[in-house]
Amino acid sequence: MTALGLRLPTGKLLEPLAALGRVNRACSTFQTFAEVLRLPTRQMTKLAFPLQELQRQLTPDSRLDLHVKTFDPSLEDISKAESVFTATGRNCIEYLSSAVRLDHAPDLPHPEVCFIGRSNVGKSSLIKALFSLAPEVEVRVSKKPGHTKKMNFFKVGKYFTLVDMPGYGYRAPEDFVDMVETYLKERRNLMRTFLLVDSVVGIQKTDSIAIGMCEEFALPYVMVLTKIDKSSRGHLLKQVLQIQKFVDTETQGCFPQLFPVSSVTYSGIHLLRCFIANITGNLKTNGL
Ligand code: GDP
Repeated sequence: MTALGLRLPTGKLLEPLAALGRVNRACSTFQTFAEVLRLPTRQMTKLAFPLQELQRQLTPDSRLDLHVKTFDPSLEDISKAESVFTATGRNCIEYLSSAVRLDHAPDLPHPEVCFIGRSNVGKSSLIKALFSLAPEVEVRVSKKPGHTKKMNFFKVGKYFTLVDMPGYGYRAPEDFVDMVETYLKERRNLMRTFLLVDSVVGIQKTDSIAIGMCEEFALPYVMVLTKIDKSSRGHLLKQVLQIQKFVDTETQGCFPQLFPVSSVTYSGIHLLRCFIANITGNLKTNGL
């Protein structure tokens, strides 16, 4: 009786741990760009430039342009950007504080970028992947949606501040709109908002509300497509084309080029690091 009583909860507890183990093994490689550069060209391109890989699958007469050349850094630039995200004695990358109101947010002189998205879109996982070269930084990744209820501020050395915003949609905190709207409208050093969309399901109703908010406040924002490892190529391409059409025709402030990423395979993560280093003024890549 006792043994049976113990077995069930233990089994349940072990499940997420086993899943975490799988993810950790998958992530134990390709975190650094040097590892990516050692891959055969085709595989390297897929990891470093996932959008280019998708573009190659389009027929030449396709009317949709994926704008792959809008931000097209050299491999050298991507390597250089990595130093911004690498924790060293001189480059301290750390969690600073959390806030539920803008007037409680740390007052920092550095440029700032923020990440917003629906609960469960993969925001914490993405931030964790971006910070994988600073393993001391604790970014909590939850199995349950609605985990992030505060704005979490991370300092990236002398370079910039990264803000993890609470997830919207299911189980969003009640004061979410107030908190996020005020932040987006009033944060003076906010350089760019990264709006995450789940590539498996595309733009949902709640995503449209966030997009509407960015448009209304005339914010420069970037759409990041998460979990690209989860879909077949065909499905992913279909979603990307739909989202690209939306960005081209329905938005003003959105950066024309999409950023597809996977926090499991690290696909697109290095390019995103390089983009962030650029827009925070810490690297100069041609074309930006
Ligand atoms: P958040 O609520 O937006 O912070 O989402 P999480 O980062 O906690 O991720 C939600 C779920 O999606 C978790 O089960 C993650 O393991 C999973 N997930 C996040 N990113 C990826 C990804 O790139 N690929 C896959 N396959 N799963 C992911």
